[in-house]
Amino acid sequence: MIARKPLKAVSEKPKKCAVRTCRAPFIPKQSFEKWCSPDCAVLIIKAAEANKRLAFEQRERREIKVRKEKLKGRGDYAKTAQDAFNAYIRARDAGQPCISCGTTADVQYCAGHYRTVGACPELRYEPLNVHRQCNKNCNLEKSGNIVEYRIRLVRKIGAEALAWLEGPHEPKKYTIEDLQQIAALYRLKLRELKKQQEASHV
Ligand SMILES: [Zn+2]
Ligand SMILES: [Zn+2]
Repeated sequence: MIARKPLKAVSEKPKKCAVRTCRAPFIPKQSFEKWCSPDCAVLIIKAAEANKRLAFEQRERREIKVRKEKLKGRGDYAKTAQDAFNAYIRARDAGQPCISCGTTADVQYCAGHYRTVGACPELRYEPLNVHRQCNKNCNLEKSGNIVEYRIRLVRKIGAEALAWLEGPHEPKKYTIEDLQQIAALYRLKLRELKKQQEASHV
């Protein structure tokens, strides 16, 4: 039988306990020891476990986000793009009368398409094609009130632009990337417009 040598302290130099609230000097018995006492060792283990759990939860959250992003269909991107576009139109036409009936009454307004999304999807995100319109009377009950729409539209955008709107258009297929770009573009335009509007109000 070989007698085991007792473990010797590896260093005579005192270390400071790694526990931030302790920081007591101690002589480590093993080179890896960072704690001055069993109590402090428990604190260090608990902190390490909490860190691991936090990292795990963060990874989980990231993965869920990525999965959700993948589940987002084209329809969601189209809606996001439409929302950003409509918000821009609302800000551009704020305070203007309904493009069709000319009312300025305190009613609900929307972004009304001259050429409808169903008939002309390639003009869906065309600012010349979409204007402030009263929601109930013109947009819903009169399906856009197009004859009246045209009268004020030509005054607003000019005959040339109107002829272009009414002319033929290349069919468009929006990829998810196109839709993301449209959303980003109109968010940017809205920000710029609001800056301009604020500057002209002072
Ligand atoms: Zn300690
Ligand atoms: Zn109207």
